[in-house]
Amino acid sequence: MEKLIACCGLNCATCDARIATIADDDKLRAATAEKWKKMYNAPDIPAELINCTGCCEEGVKFLHCSTCEIRKCVNTKGYATCGDCSEMEACEIVVMVHKHVPEAITNLKNLN
Ligand code: SF4
Ligand code: SF4
Repeated sequence: MEKLIACCGLNCATCDARIATIADDDKLRAATAEKWKKMYNAPDIPAELINCTGCCEEGVKFLHCSTCEIRKCVNTKGYATCGDCSEMEACEIVVMVHKHVPEAITNLKNLN
C-alpha cells in the first residue's frame, strides 16, 4: 500500500477514516467511530464525522486532525513534517504520538 505520511509520522494511507472517506463507505465510518470511541475514550464521535483525506492531502480533515497542534506547528514553521524539525527528539507535542506509535519516527526518518 502507498504511504501518505502525516506531519507527526503516522501513515494516513492505513487510517480507517481515510479509507472510508475515499471509498465513501458508511459501514466502515460507523465501525471506525465505534472503535475510536473506545480507543480515545471519546463517546461523542458520530460516524458522520469520520471523513478525512489525510493530514497533508487536499480535502476534508477529521475534526481532531483539523485542529491538531502538531499539524499547526509544522505548518507555522514551514516544514513538511516534524522530520524536518531539529527539535523533534525533545519535542513535548509530538512525543505522545511517538510514544504510542514508534513506527511514526521510522516513517519520518525514511522521508529524509
Ligand atoms: S489526518 Fe486523517 S487520515 Fe491522517 S491519521 Fe488523522 S484522521 Fe487519519
Ligand atoms: S516543535 Fe514539535 S510539533 Fe513542532 S515541528 Fe518540531 S517536532 Fe513537530
